[in-house]
Amino acid sequence: MLNIYHSIIDLNEYLDKARLAGKSIGFVPTMGALHAGHISLIEESSRQCDVTVCSIFVNPTQFNDPSDYTKYPRNIESDKIILENTGCSCLFVPDAKEIYPDESFKHITFDPGPIGMILDGAHRPGHFAGMAAVVKRLLDIVVPDKAFFGQKDYQQYLIVKMMTAYYQMPVEILKCPTVREKNGLAMSSRNQRLSPDEREQAAMIYKTLTWAAHEISAGNLSFETIEKQAMFDLMANGKYNVDYFDICSAETLEKLNFNKNNEPLAILTAVWIRDVRLIDNILV
Ligand code: AMP
Repeated sequence: MLNIYHSIIDLNEYLDKARLAGKSIGFVPTMGALHAGHISLIEESSRQCDVTVCSIFVNPTQFNDPSDYTKYPRNIESDKIILENTGCSCLFVPDAKEIYPDESFKHITFDPGPIGMILDGAHRPGHFAGMAAVVKRLLDIVVPDKAFFGQKDYQQYLIVKMMTAYYQMPVEILKCPTVREKNGLAMSSRNQRLSPDEREQAAMIYKTLTWAAHEISAGNLSFETIEKQAMFDLMANGKYNVDYFDICSAETLEKLNFNKNNEPLAILTAVWIRDVRLIDNILV
């Protein structure tokens, strides 16, 4: 049975009982409009923990673009049905007052430094500050043993890991693989805003990432040439705009020109299809 809580007090009463009974708690924070990507995190949490809490909160402070916030898909009733059918024990659906009783909760002292200023940090000013503050607030409320994040938002995952280390929070942050449509398009709540044709065309994003990974392994082209060719290919149909297509260190996200230390790499991209912005990445 799915327990649904709107208030912190009610959620804590439930979680305190679970903790007293010796149960471990897994947490999956989301903004709702749930899809198979979210479900995979909930299933992983259910495998690893006795109780799984999923939160749904469309956090206004992490949207740098107000129209993106307004247009963000919200399907709370169908989300509840989806959660009923997974191993999720508990849904936490707070309103903004519960999360932000006053302005001070919207800001935290943690600053991710350079990793927060590149890629999505450069293109979405304020996004990671808002994201880190809400994730901290949610982790302070739920106090899970483990929290599960998707590789799809790889930069977010790295920043959350840094943030929890900075505050010495007693939580393990885990990364789960990106779940994709059959054509390779990374699942995203924002995909709902694409037409069926656009969804088909958007398969190009993953294809281009895979091509770049292949070229890196082949070692014939410089990283700069691969990035330029990928941007060119993505924009060739005249329908896409590309914020970035970068080959980076998987650990620091520092952009690399060549892999002199043979370190793990991440290829990350953000692509606009009309007014819908999609991000994706692969690790090499
Ligand atoms: P969101 O609701 O978009 O804020 O995402 C909530 C969590 O689900 C984040 O940890 C995301 O990285 C993760 N997530 C979103 N899409 C996917 C996907 N396609 N595969 C795996 N995880 C995902």
